[in-house]
Amino acid sequence: MPNSVFWFRRDLRLTDNPALLAAVNAAGGDGVQAVFVLDPVPFRVSGGTRTSHLVRSLAALDRALGGNLLIRHGKPEDEIPRLAVERGADEVHVAADYGPYGAARDQRVEKALATHGVTLHRTGSPYAVAPGRIRKPDGTPYRVFTPFSRAWREHGWRAPVASPSNVNWLGPAGSDDLPDVPDLPGVELPDAGEDAALARLTAFLDDGLRDYATQRNRPDHDGTSRLSVHLKYGELHPRTILAELAKHRGEGADTFRNEICWREFYADVVFHRPESIWESLDHRVGSIHTDSGKAADERFEAWAAGRTGYPIVDAGMRQLRSIGWMHNRVRMITASFLVKDLHLPWQRGAQHFLDHLVDGDYASNNHGWQWVAGTGTDAAPYIRVFNPVTQGKKFDPEGGYVRRWVPELADVTGAALHEPWTLQEQPDGYPEPIVDHAAERKETLRRFEAVRGA
Ligand SMILES: Cc1cc2nc3c(=O)[nH]c(=O)nc-3n(C[C@H](O)[C@H](O)[C@H](O)COP(=O)(O)OP(=O)(O)OC[C@H]3O[C@@H](n4cnc5c(N)ncnc54)[C@H](O)[C@@H]3O)c2cc1C
Repeated sequence: MPNSVFWFRRDLRLTDNPALLAAVNAAGGDGVQAVFVLDPVPFRVSGGTRTSHLVRSLAALDRALGGNLLIRHGKPEDEIPRLAVERGADEVHVAADYGPYGAARDQRVEKALATHGVTLHRTGSPYAVAPGRIRKPDGTPYRVFTPFSRAWREHGWRAPVASPSNVNWLGPAGSDDLPDVPDLPGVELPDAGEDAALARLTAFLDDGLRDYATQRNRPDHDGTSRLSVHLKYGELHPRTILAELAKHRGEGADTFRNEICWREFYADVVFHRPESIWESLDHRVGSIHTDSGKAADERFEAWAAGRTGYPIVDAGMRQLRSIGWMHNRVRMITASFLVKDLHLPWQRGAQHFLDHLVDGDYASNNHGWQWVAGTGTDAAPYIRVFNPVTQGKKFDPEGGYVRRWVPELADVTGAALHEPWTLQEQPDGYPEPIVDHAAERKETLRRFEAVRGA
């Protein structure tokens, strides 16, 4: 049989990788060429944290492949056909990419391969259930999470597959070098690669799952899985997680399964409405008046730097800069602050998150922002404005999270930690609030009323 090519993209793992098994089976004992193409387009727009993770993950994958991962820099529609011809392969195997950029890229590659008589085979996807598959009985897509999640659970998913064995990997002759891991002073990122992902999953199942339902909203506790970055790069497949969850009973496992479903839901929304990555789904709410100009820019900068004077907001924004990750509850609080206290467009905040998040993902991030802004699916009503003081008191009641990330407040104790302006003396070096939350809340409601009847 002729050789085959396996093109790794967002599936940087060997276990539970059906597309990789398909490539191995297609070669039937002949050679399999493993390749990753550093496509300049997504590579340019990835923040430094994601570039760092990707490069480290590729190095781990190369080790797992015994040094046989070939790297190519360039456009996939040039590199993949060239490689297939060089290696005498007549099939190229991938996991399907359902994102707008990836799907269009794959069509270009498929067309270019066809001119050489080579076929592109898509097997599986980065999701338990491929985007577009779950539909209402009338065939239209779900627009609301809860019925989608019910149908998703009823649909079910395949069991994980084993890793391929005795593969005749073709070597990396002609490989380009991996780029250097970017230097990000002061930024601490998680370990990358499949082993790190599986170790994280095991640790979470052993120590975190049981209390997940009650702990997941507490940014001061290490109560969530931290698997988002591993899912983003496919170092772990959600199906592997779901199979493990099936061995556990209880609220923790149910809640966690539901969270995995949010990722699947947003991918499904983007599949049907690709423009919704940057456009508000609800145009009416999306047309609400937002601020611009110098004062707005200064507020944005204060928000991004974690210097708004609202401790829970500042803690979140500093956590983001320090470790490329932010707790989900605090993502909601900081996003709400940008949109509803500073009256800035959600897209501006979403872009900032994508510049820094190591798990930055267009579907989950931009729809997370739309959810908060009230412009997306399951829109929290626009009038629901998160109060950063009450959110801080409720979800960081002892203040451990704020003190961890805002050293200027390290010596403040008690409820005043979340409203330091009530202290006799403003803590040294910590800013006064840049806006008055109560006044901005009213302003948000006023602006909402102005578009309500539009
Ligand atoms: C404004 C905003 C921006 C966000 N940006 C991203 C992003 O760029 N990338 C990203 O993966 N998630 C994003 N999320 C969702 C969520 O915050 C993260 O998935 C979660 O914090 C990751 O930490 P974890 O793995 O410990 O989560 P866990 O609580 O352990 O959840 C397990 C997994 O479920 C999925 N998940 C959980 N909550 C959500 C959710 N609300 N939406 C989609 N998937 C979810 C993730 O894959 C996560 O890894 C965003 C949420 C908001 C409100």
